[in-house]
Amino acid sequence: MQKPRLMTPGPSSVPEDVLLELARPVIHHRSAEAKQVIVEVAAGLKEVFQTQNDVLILTASGTGAMEAAAVNSVPPGSKALVLNAGHFAARWADICKAFGINAVMLDTEWGQPVDPAQVAEALKQHPDTACVMGTLSETSTGTGHPIEAIGKIVAQTPALFAVDGISGVGAMECRPDAWGIDLLCAGSQKALMLPPGLAFISVSPKAWAKIDAFDSKSFYFNLKSARKKMKEFDTPYTPAHTLILALRTSLRRIKEEGIENVWTRHRLMSEACQAGVRALGLELFSSRPAEGLTAFRVPEGLKDGDIRKGLVDRFGVTTVGGQGKIKGQIIRIGHMGYTDEIDVVAGLAALELVLHNLGYKLTPGAAVTAAQQVILGHKPAAVSK
Ligand SMILES: *Cc1c(COP(=O)(O)O)cnc(C)c1O
Repeated sequence: MQKPRLMTPGPSSVPEDVLLELARPVIHHRSAEAKQVIVEVAAGLKEVFQTQNDVLILTASGTGAMEAAAVNSVPPGSKALVLNAGHFAARWADICKAFGINAVMLDTEWGQPVDPAQVAEALKQHPDTACVMGTLSETSTGTGHPIEAIGKIVAQTPALFAVDGISGVGAMECRPDAWGIDLLCAGSQKALMLPPGLAFISVSPKAWAKIDAFDSKSFYFNLKSARKKMKEFDTPYTPAHTLILALRTSLRRIKEEGIENVWTRHRLMSEACQAGVRALGLELFSSRPAEGLTAFRVPEGLKDGDIRKGLVDRFGVTTVGGQGKIKGQIIRIGHMGYTDEIDVVAGLAALELVLHNLGYKLTPGAAVTAAQQVILGHKPAAVSK
């Protein structure tokens, strides 16, 4: 017997009621019923994004929202400041390259947070920056970046602030309107508890002014077309409306729990997981951990593949390793979306058993106990109605 436990930082596990929506007969995407679903999810997305801005729905993986942000608002030949601190931040640079945008890289060591003072300095050096491109939760390193502080700096300049919140939105506190985020990207398969296939992007009035002034050649990812259709609670072309129907259910779940309680739950899972990992003598990879996943260094003498194979073969716990230049060096445990503290405790228990079997010295129960102590030290989140 093996029970699947998808503990990856995307895709993440999907609740049963959301899955059941996907088993319903496909309706027509221009029907009144389909429109009504968009009416409800448009409001729900604003709540999860904590914004008054438009949140547009794209049929794409999360990267589609990143491409849309860049190609609609940053003209070719203009300058973007890329807060380059991991594999996904580097994707911003790749997108810039594809569209002839001049990417200026502000490099930060992987696992460290971007320093807002350096962003301020770089913007002084490059006053013609059209867009600053950053990451809320850098999934490749398990780092949460200080987006609030950076956003407040960017807001004082003419530059837009585009944020990849693909693994952050719905897992970590994020307030685009108060923090000065102009374009916030998210994807369905991370903390929003859906399968992959939808991307979301919120657009501020400052961003719309630039988008409207720029005759972007984008076609499928044209945000002006998406805005026009969204006014009628519709989308250009045929959306993945079966996923939008399922989104309604996942957003209802988030609304019922309350977004602040959702963030609190993620913080608690994150702190519990960090405490557990540390109690085993393992080292966290990030100095400022994100809240939807935990990344730790593979202990000396062991191979990441052996640990992850042990976890999945014996306990059905799927995790991921490192990407790019840190391949083989870290293991990442996802705890975002449809997960709770006990999932984290179970994952840690499995990790202890697997490490023990691989010859790593540990006291069984150490990680579990440390995680439980974190959980006991927190007041349960207030139930919001
Ligand atoms: C998952 C992820 C992406 C990529 O999203 P896709 O849905 O695979 O296109 C980009 N950025 C971050 C931070 C992510 O976690």
